[in-house]
Amino acid sequence: MYDYLVVGTGLFGSIFAYEASKKGLKCLVLERRSHIGGNCYTESVENINVHKYGAHIFRTSDENIWKYMQQFCKFNHFVNSPIANFKGEIYNLPFNMNTFSKLWNIFSPKEAREIILQQGKEIQGEPKNLEEHTIKLVGRDVYEKFIKGYTEKQWGRDCKDLPASIIRRIPVRYIYDNNYFNDPYQGIPIGGYTAIFEKMLEKCEVLLEVDFLEQRQEFQNKAKKIIFTGTIDSYFNYKYGALEYRSLRFEHKILDTNNYQGVAVVNYTDRETPYTRTIEHKHFEFGTQEKTVISEEYPLEWNKNIEPYYPINDDKNQELYEKYLELAKKENNVFFGGRLGEYRYYDMQDSVKSALEFSKKELGIL
Ligand code: UDP
Repeated sequence: MYDYLVVGTGLFGSIFAYEASKKGLKCLVLERRSHIGGNCYTESVENINVHKYGAHIFRTSDENIWKYMQQFCKFNHFVNSPIANFKGEIYNLPFNMNTFSKLWNIFSPKEAREIILQQGKEIQGEPKNLEEHTIKLVGRDVYEKFIKGYTEKQWGRDCKDLPASIIRRIPVRYIYDNNYFNDPYQGIPIGGYTAIFEKMLEKCEVLLEVDFLEQRQEFQNKAKKIIFTGTIDSYFNYKYGALEYRSLRFEHKILDTNNYQGVAVVNYTDRETPYTRTIEHKHFEFGTQEKTVISEEYPLEWNKNIEPYYPINDDKNQELYEKYLELAKKENNVFFGGRLGEYRYYDMQDSVKSALEFSKKELGIL
C-alpha cells in the first residue's frame, strides 16, 4: 500500500511527490505521457534543449520559491525580451519606451503618455472587456498592432468577448526596458527542465504511459490518498459538462543556420500569420551550436483528445468550475492541484507556490 498516488508529473505533482518522499512516505506516480515534467518537459535535439510544449521561462518575486528551485538546478541569467513582428515591422515588447518611440517616432515618456491618454479617451466609463480595457490602458494604436490579432488568434474569440484579466499579465512601462517580466528573479535551468523533474521524482516509483482515468479501478486503491493534477472535470467524467481550454500545436524545425531570429521569442501580432510565436530554443541558454531548432506555435481549439494548455477563465467556465470544486470537496482523500486541477492560468511559480502550500497542509512542516 502506497501513502500517495500522484497523478501527473508536472510541477504540482512532482513537488508534492518530492516532499512526501523526503518524509519517508511512499508515492506511486502515474504519468499519461511517455515522459515526466508535464508541459515543462525539455528534450535535447542537436544538443539544444528544446521546450517541447512552448517557452518556459522561470520567474518569481518570491525569494523562497526561487531558493526552493535552486536545490534542483542552477538557473542562468536569461531575461525574456521578446520581439513583436507585425506584418514585418519589428518592435520591442513588452510595451515600453522602445516600442513607443518606434511606433510614434518620439523620444520622451511625456510624449508617450500624452498620446496614450488621448487615445484612451475613446473609452468612457468602466471598460467592459479586454478590448476596452486595453484601449483605455495603452490606446488604440498599441491595441491594433500588438494585441488584437495576437489575442484573437490565441484565444479563438473576439477581444470584446474576453476578460481583461488575460492581458493584465503584460507590463506597460514608460522607461526604456525590454524585460517582459517585473519579477526580480528570472532564468532558465541550465541543461533544461527535465533534469529538475528527475531529481524531484528520484525516490518515487514512476509509471509512464498510464492513464489513471482509464485504469481507475486498478490504481485507486493502491494508495491511502490521491493527488490528481489532471483536469478536474475529467476526473468527474465531465458530469456537468466539459470545462473549456485552449490548446496549442507546435511545429518543431531543425534549421541549417546557427542563428535564425536572434532572440528566443518572436510574437507574430498580426492576424495573417497563422502562428502566434516562434521560439528559437538555443537562445534560452546562449547556445553556440552549429544548427538551430525553432518551434512555431499554433493556437488550437481544445478537444478531449489533445492536451489542454490554458483554462478559459470567463464567467461561464468559472461557474462550472465552482460546481466541480464542490464535488471535489466531498471526495474523500482525493486532492486536486496545479493549472488543470485548479483550473487557473498558473505560471510555473504559481504551481510551485500552490504545491508547497498544499504540501505543508498535508505533510506538516517541510
Ligand atoms: N498578448 C498580446 N500580444 C502579445 C503578447 C501577449 O495580445 O504580443 C496577450 C494575449 O492575449 C496573451 C496574453 O496577452 O494570451 C498573455 O500573454 P503572455 O505572453 O503572458 O502569455 P503566455 O506566455 O502565458 O502564453
